[in-house]
Amino acid sequence: MSRIWNFSAGPAALPEEVLKQAQEEILDWHGAGCSVMEMSHRGKEFMSILAQAEADLRELMGIPEQYKVLFLQGGATQQFAQIPMNLLAGRSADYIVTGSWSKKAVKEAQRIGNVRVAATTEASNFTRLPTAEEIKLDPFAAYLHVCTNETIHGVEIPAERIADTGVPLVADMSSHILSRPVNVEKFGLIYAGAQKNIGPSGVTLVIIHRDLLGMAPLTIPTVMDYAVMAENDSMLNTPPTYGIYIAGLVFQWLKKQGGLAGIDAVNAEKARILYECIDQSGSFYTNPVDPDCRSRMNVPFVLADAGLDAAFLADAKAAGVLGLKGHKSVGGMRASIYNAVSLAAVTALVEFMNDFAKRKG
Ligand SMILES: *Cc1c(COP(=O)(O)O)cnc(C)c1O
Repeated sequence: MSRIWNFSAGPAALPEEVLKQAQEEILDWHGAGCSVMEMSHRGKEFMSILAQAEADLRELMGIPEQYKVLFLQGGATQQFAQIPMNLLAGRSADYIVTGSWSKKAVKEAQRIGNVRVAATTEASNFTRLPTAEEIKLDPFAAYLHVCTNETIHGVEIPAERIADTGVPLVADMSSHILSRPVNVEKFGLIYAGAQKNIGPSGVTLVIIHRDLLGMAPLTIPTVMDYAVMAENDSMLNTPPTYGIYIAGLVFQWLKKQGGLAGIDAVNAEKARILYECIDQSGSFYTNPVDPDCRSRMNVPFVLADAGLDAAFLADAKAAGVLGLKGHKSVGGMRASIYNAVSLAAVTALVEFMNDFAKRKG
């Protein structure tokens, strides 16, 4: 058996140790005589898996007691609707648009209520962040929504650019959660679909300040009400049990990597060597994003000669390097270098890219 070097944007690579442990435990989890997939979500075995996953996540991210951790379903896309359904409360919300995902969040929220675009960088093709002067905030907004890492455009908001604006900050962290330390207290709500940096698709993580619970109108469905989900510890109905179990194994793996500070250092080095390869290719490859907000997780790039795209992908595949085709909306290439993508994998990618440029340049 041989595994590929996997640069898929999502669902994405998982740590091999996690997959091996899941394999070992698949027929009989810790003497339960069945797999995690086959046990009651209300039994003591699964309850212990959920409690451990939450405890490990709280430790990794330093989540304070006044925040509730929810393991939901529906993906980040469902959150685009669930957030305004719960938090708008008849008011208006501000959105900063820095790429395709925050743009989609606006579109979905507009179906629910009043939304203002406080800033957008679409005119710059989402290759930079808005300046402070460009951001026009409503001081009475119910919340301010940002996407802290735009998976398609490769734009990441550095922590020091996240300022307190006086209204609750809501962040889509789907594609860079757990990749670096984060100050949870700056946020009212953090959410992420699992399939990039947490585990398999089907789990959606919501970290919400308790002050934001209980604001939903009684007309929304109970499964969509954060307060109901929080009261029931994510167990109003059957949660995505197997996904939560795998996420829990990923959290334990992260702790063994030295937690978020440990993985942060590896991620910084991975991004450094990949951007260096692109920037030093003599424009054979280019990444259009402003260097002060280049994503450390998703690295889009184009070949100067788009006629070489097909050969690039075919040769990459032959070298065991997969998942590089860019998103259909922007074209070109994209390497997603999430936590589970090792420095060895990125080194293999860089070697391939250098070799390809030498042969075709
Ligand atoms: C992938 C992604 C989404 C959509 O996630 P789903 O789980 O497919 O709904 C939303 N936001 C960001 C930043 C993403 O990377």
